[in-house]
Amino acid sequence: MNYDTLPESFWRIRTLDMQKDKKWAAAVNVAALVVLLALLIPAGFWIPLRECAGFDGRSFGEEMLFWGLLLVGAVGYIFAHELIHGAAIRLLGRTKPTFGFTGLFAYAACQTKYISKKPYAVIALAPLVLITAALLPLCFLVPRGWFWLPYFVMAANISGSVGDIGVVWMLLRAPRDVLVIDRGTAMEFYSAEKGRRR
Ligand SMILES: [Zn+2]
Repeated sequence: MNYDTLPESFWRIRTLDMQKDKKWAAAVNVAALVVLLALLIPAGFWIPLRECAGFDGRSFGEEMLFWGLLLVGAVGYIFAHELIHGAAIRLLGRTKPTFGFTGLFAYAACQTKYISKKPYAVIALAPLVLITAALLPLCFLVPRGWFWLPYFVMAANISGSVGDIGVVWMLLRAPRDVLVIDRGTAMEFYSAEKGRRR
């Protein structure tokens, strides 16, 4: 259940400010890097990048197409990721999302509704699940020389979803009645349960 205004008995149990909370930002960045390397390095042994880039007798035009599409994918997935958050906010929160960019990260927020645990978890994880589901089959369907195109974009999105996973992990540990409002760069958690400050 989602609310337009905070129910009376609820009080703020936690604020997560993605810009001011340095510990959170550091943990997310380190984890994102570890995840990215864990995805790229083993794949690099399996299909070395040189098999995809330049050394396999590919024509100049094909080569340009590969790198061009990689660039489009590497930038485009950020937009796709936030648009999926936005669509989930529209669908599950029944409200308009707001989009923004802080200079460090892009976000889609739900500033006008207090959203409960399950819908919020779906909103948070939707881009990770949907983009992975779209690109993973492509990695195996495209010719070997094109593997790195969908794989790199998928890996970047998984790595970029580490913050979303962190938020869901926090949600799972929050009281059952938790309500979340997302003010863009800061999230606030509310609950009516007393004595469970987290
Ligand atoms: Zn996200």
